[in-house]
Amino acid sequence: MSEIKERIARILERIESLRPQHDCRLMAVSKGQSWERIQAAMDAGVSLFGENRVQECGQKWLVRPHQVELRMIGRLQRNKVKSAIQVFSGIDTIDRETLADTLDRQLADQFSVMIEVNAGEENTKTGMLPAVVREFLETAERWPRLRFDGILAMLPEARDLSLAETKRIRRLMQETAELWRICKSEGWPWAPLDELSMGMTSDFEWALEAGATIVRIGQGIFGPRQ
Ligand SMILES: *Cc1c(COP(=O)(O)O)cnc(C)c1O
Repeated sequence: MSEIKERIARILERIESLRPQHDCRLMAVSKGQSWERIQAAMDAGVSLFGENRVQECGQKWLVRPHQVELRMIGRLQRNKVKSAIQVFSGIDTIDRETLADTLDRQLADQFSVMIEVNAGEENTKTGMLPAVVREFLETAERWPRLRFDGILAMLPEARDLSLAETKRIRRLMQETAELWRICKSEGWPWAPLDELSMGMTSDFEWALEAGATIVRIGQGIFGPRQ
């Protein structure tokens, strides 16, 4: 377990050195990881976790220390919404109106959500196309219980590390950050949009440079998934 602590310390150092002027939080993506490993990350000071399956989460996270935030970062089916709002402190993968409808209807109080954006417009990925995000948020007042706290960006994986490929991904990150800033500057009361969740193990340093306020790291902390 000590290697988990060391990896976290190293990542936090990188975050600190790349973003001296802004805060950026580390989200530990604990899908496919044992409770023992999750606890090691908590002991190392991580208080934000991401999971992508409602069922796996309900079994693993029977008790969540109150200072720990657990957010959904995987595709959410509408028939799992009810369980999801019991397990998670927020859902970062709002990608369609029908999901927002269902969620809003099942909630009693305000609830934190994020819009998931398919930044590279890939067929294989979930998320809204960048071109429709602004309009979606503009009309999101119709879901009075949803508070849109940010944007979660899904980016293409680098197929190789050629200069062209690297440039393309970094450009998509810049464009997503720009879209986030534009929407945030609208000042919609229902969409404070304080967070830009972008970057994973292989590309978080680029995401930080582009302006991410949350980076989502799984294997870089825990090693290979079980
Ligand atoms: C699994 C996952 C991550 C973490 O990926 P790693 O490569 O393990 O860092 C981040 N975001 C989402 C949406 C994921 O599903």
